[in-house]
Amino acid sequence: MAKIKKKIRIIKIDADKCNGCRTCEVMCSSFHANPPYSSNNPARSRIQIVTNRLKDIWLPVMAGEYTESECMGRNKYVIDGKEYDECDSCRASCPARDLFKEPDSGLPLKCDMCEHEDEPICVKWCLVHALTYEEREEEREETETPQPNEMEVGLQALASKHGLQKVMDIVNRMAKKG
Ligand code: SF4
Ligand code: SF4
Repeated sequence: MAKIKKKIRIIKIDADKCNGCRTCEVMCSSFHANPPYSSNNPARSRIQIVTNRLKDIWLPVMAGEYTESECMGRNKYVIDGKEYDECDSCRASCPARDLFKEPDSGLPLKCDMCEHEDEPICVKWCLVHALTYEEREEEREETETPQPNEMEVGLQALASKHGLQKVMDIVNRMAKKG
């Protein structure tokens, strides 16, 4: 099978450098507003700073995949003497918590790596370089399973929350209104 080159985009996170300023959250939500930069709301950001001031924890986490069900088991990490809570480093938009859900609709949010930008917006605005950007190329088999787009993931989330029939009824009603 033919091989293709694929660009892998990586954000390296140095949690020790993060000071919890939340500029990345503001800028991510602003960049993804419609139209871009028309508003900002850190609750809509696809990066969130998991914070525990008492334990001196500031952990930047980017939203990953949507999942319908929460995990059956969980892990706790202790790194450099700091104990992280069970879900702290998890990137999933899942039913067990409110993180990485659009606050008005409840639809899942996912980091798209600011795909058309040379450098992700959160990285550009992290002035203390807690976030840095790297790229590398990897060789892959040509046939890859197509990834669902944002709309497909959103519809799947709505259908699992409200039932497919209800979602279809709403879509039909909207289509009739034109
Ligand atoms: S901009 Fe950088 S330092 Fe500020 S919260 Fe985000 S990751 Fe942390
Ligand atoms: S890479 Fe882009 S989409 Fe992802 S968290 Fe950073 S600013 Fe948001």
